[in-house]
Amino acid sequence: LEGELESIRGAGTWKSERVIASRQGPHLRLAGGGAGILNFCANNYLGLSSHPEVIRAGVETLEQFGAGLSSVRFICGTQSIHKDLEEKIAHFHQREDAILYASCFDANAGLFEALLTPEDAVLSDELNHASIIDGIRLCKANKYRYKHMDMQDLEAKLQEAQKHRLRLVATDGAFSMDGDIAPLREICRLAEKYEALVFIDECHATGFLGPSGRGTDELLGVMDKVTIINSTLGKALGGAAGGYTTGPKPLVDLLRQRSRPYLFSNSLPPAVVGCASKALDLLMESNAIAQSMAAKTQRFRSKMTAAGFTISGQDHPICPVMLGDARLASVMADDMLSRGIYVIGFSYPVVPKGKARIRVQISAVHSDEDIDRCVEAFTEVGQKHGALP
Ligand code: PLP
Repeated sequence: LEGELESIRGAGTWKSERVIASRQGPHLRLAGGGAGILNFCANNYLGLSSHPEVIRAGVETLEQFGAGLSSVRFICGTQSIHKDLEEKIAHFHQREDAILYASCFDANAGLFEALLTPEDAVLSDELNHASIIDGIRLCKANKYRYKHMDMQDLEAKLQEAQKHRLRLVATDGAFSMDGDIAPLREICRLAEKYEALVFIDECHATGFLGPSGRGTDELLGVMDKVTIINSTLGKALGGAAGGYTTGPKPLVDLLRQRSRPYLFSNSLPPAVVGCASKALDLLMESNAIAQSMAAKTQRFRSKMTAAGFTISGQDHPICPVMLGDARLASVMADDMLSRGIYVIGFSYPVVPKGKARIRVQISAVHSDEDIDRCVEAFTEVGQKHGALP
């Protein structure tokens, strides 16, 4: 193992973890010092991870329903709060039913194998999240991989897949490395033409994309055309943990019978259920938080572009600052931290060679001053390292 570990270090792909000594939020304290760090790299898009009402709901649910169920759902692990949350999720997405998992990774691991047989086909965007790729690996359906958001290639693969019993197109709604959004209107049009179902992973969309934060399908006006949604409770919806599938009732019924991560893993802890349930209530009451995040995203993107940086993606709070060179991304991210701004550089193999970047993530709880401080620091660091003229 030492040799293997050394080769990871040697390849420059070693991932180290900074230890946080405070709650998740826009301002962090790092273990061993480092107070007042401005945080721009969490998926806490709406700032609900440390929202007082979300925390209170978690504490109250913990007190009323206990620490955990010591059981899977179908043995003796289903409480009223689990049923209520599933109903709330289905209502939020305007779908028939929903089923909870310990994570969206599990939801993705449990979907394809339960739904698809060797007579079926799954068509997957080449840049889909690792958990979709792993979920697809577990199923026995015929596998087609289409070029990232390339509708010509998807159409060609759909034509090839006509010989199979059922076709399922699988895509991230919003892609986390680039902040780009799947062309769902076109995907749904092709799916209709070739009689395919559409599945989207909405981890980086649920709660904030679309006029009322329902996600990519709402943003692009195809809520009635996307059949299956998987998403997480671990990002915008309170940030604790948990995932789900929402869609047609017979599909959810089937998953309760067949989906292995659901059948063979413990029920979601009550505190987690309480937090997520409150996060959904807050979003259904008002879309003010999501709008505030959108305005801040706009502020960051336009100021950074004016400063001379290239920001990838479309109006998404994932704002990749494109730098190209892996070393440049790494030294700039370190220099940003020395100025009190926590951002992360990504390079090959996480992103393609020559496309290194620093990924910035905006949250509703960043203030305008936080955003401006981040842009100023980027400008100074960019000039110092020759990334800006
Ligand atoms: N799908 C996507 C697109 C993600 O970004 C992630 C998390 O990084 C997951 C699934 C897994 O979500 P969870 O953390 O709930 O397992």
